[in-house]
Amino acid sequence: MIKAEQKPVDEILDFLKPHRKILLAGCNACVAVCHAGGEKEVGILSSALKMARKKAGQKIEILEDCSTRQCEPEFVQELKEKAEEVEAVLSIACGVGVQTVARMFSDIPVYPGLNTTFMGETDELGVWIERCQACGNCVLHVTGGVCPVARCAKQLLNGPCGGSQDGECEIGNDVPCAWQQIYDRLKTIGQLHRMEEIIPVKKWGRESRDKGPRTISREDLKL
Ligand code: SF4
Ligand code: SF4
Repeated sequence: MIKAEQKPVDEILDFLKPHRKILLAGCNACVAVCHAGGEKEVGILSSALKMARKKAGQKIEILEDCSTRQCEPEFVQELKEKAEEVEAVLSIACGVGVQTVARMFSDIPVYPGLNTTFMGETDELGVWIERCQACGNCVLHVTGGVCPVARCAKQLLNGPCGGSQDGECEIGNDVPCAWQQIYDRLKTIGQLHRMEEIIPVKKWGRESRDKGPRTISREDLKL
């Protein structure tokens, strides 16, 4: 899932300065799971902003809402009535949700309340780790289910490099060497021969953003 963190309240207060009535819009999907932008966080952030503005002698009215998924126009549409009443929207969805809201309510400012960070998994309560960089051509079948793009500091498609020491990456900080993890995993599942497979250089036309935003178009799903 997409992971994100709330921006510092002072930064949010700074870009809300010109506004006296806003909609604070959360998202009940990924960002709710990492406790950054769900219903609960909408309430907490709303109170914090109101208190700070009251203290500064510049009250603010905040309408609150939380979409099922803010990256889907059909759910964002449900915010329309409230959006028409306010001067601006503060979205605490991921960057995709913020852009969906900005596109659909194009005549008012839309601000991001979160810093969208990565796609990751839960390591333990309150700790999330990056696991995928959406490279567009997954190689997990070759690498034993361990991603070399997101987990190797050099994004080596064929590793390890010479810096791997005792299972740790040369960058230190107790970061495990992804290629050691790949080796261990392949050994466990009896596929060590995969280490000899050369993963070809990526075709950057589809697997990077050099040609602009990537698009998936499924004819079978279109109306
Ligand atoms: S190889 Fe890694 S970055 Fe690419 S799609 Fe698979 S998990 Fe994601
Ligand atoms: S030590 Fe391992 S994880 Fe670190 S850069 Fe080299 S191959 Fe990648």
